[in-house]
Amino acid sequence: MSHLTRADLDALPTYVPGRAVPGAIKLASNEVPYGPLPGVVEAITQAATMMHRYPDMGVVELRETLAGRLGVSAERVATGCGSVALAEHLAKATCHDGDEIVYSWRSFEAYPIIVATTGASSVRVPNRPDHGHDLAAMAATVTERTRLIFVCNPNNPTGTAARRSELDAFLDAVPPDVLVVLDEAYREFVTDPNVPDGLAEYGDRPNVVVLRTLSKAWGLAGLRVGYLIAQPDVAAAVRKVITPFSTSGIAQAAALAALRADDEMLRRAALVVGERERVETALRKYFPTELALLPESQSNFVWLPLGDRSVAFAAACEAAGVIVRPFPGDGVRVTVGTSEENDTFLAAAETAL
Ligand code: PMP
Repeated sequence: MSHLTRADLDALPTYVPGRAVPGAIKLASNEVPYGPLPGVVEAITQAATMMHRYPDMGVVELRETLAGRLGVSAERVATGCGSVALAEHLAKATCHDGDEIVYSWRSFEAYPIIVATTGASSVRVPNRPDHGHDLAAMAATVTERTRLIFVCNPNNPTGTAARRSELDAFLDAVPPDVLVVLDEAYREFVTDPNVPDGLAEYGDRPNVVVLRTLSKAWGLAGLRVGYLIAQPDVAAAVRKVITPFSTSGIAQAAALAALRADDEMLRRAALVVGERERVETALRKYFPTELALLPESQSNFVWLPLGDRSVAFAAACEAAGVIVRPFPGDGVRVTVGTSEENDTFLAAAETAL
């Protein structure tokens, strides 16, 4: 505690990154296990020769490339130091002290931290018993102080995804002066056609922002590139509050190279999805009842609703050489790894469960 910084920060949870333990298999941070995409290392090696110069602050080539791929104009795109930074910029760009940001809980653990550092207050709506967002309840919590709503689709850490009919009704119910962020960090792993592509289906709505990242399927977690697509005025406001130069030149080069390797990205995402289904099928027998339902994942991780057994389960996995991510009292999130990694995890889970 320091009298030099804001007292309310003492009560704020610290972001807990997935742990990396030397020699252990890390299934704790929702990374894709197959290494950088082809061409990326060469591109950043080349870009490194210019590291004594500031990068393009407008991120023009990358924004134009993303815009071209997504069928929007570049003025609708902003990039950031990971999509987590863009979530923070969106909060900064929308909220004054005392304003409200709505999100479901449990969801991405950065949301409460972002809200609190912005000076807004968190309005958390509990997930439904099936671990998905309760979108009707979220819409019903909107007040005249609400400025922003995060919809995490698919949701981290439960892997659940809202379907089209629910999202349609939700977006129709939210007032037009409230910005809705569809956080689609895991979009590339969605296989259910009833889970809408936020940009394709809602991108034209003035109050919708779609947040995506190159950290997951595109394999750039360590280089920190996220992007959003919003209406031009919203995107411009976000670009104003972004920390200058926060998409580094190396990150821009890496992102451009990764986007060129999209066939390989899709191949790897399909491998992850195949493994996800295998892991889920193997685990489902331990969660047979409605009460202890293993939710169907639309992402690159699975959620084990183990409640009070979560910490002990994670410890047992760690003893077997696999690091997973417990959320004490709630559940355990396990990232889908290579098939060998998943076999090791499943053997550990079998013993622990
Ligand atoms: N949104 C969600 C739902 C996430 O799970 C994550 C990463 N854990 C992020 C955003 C941020 O990812 P990044 O900052 O690496 O783009």
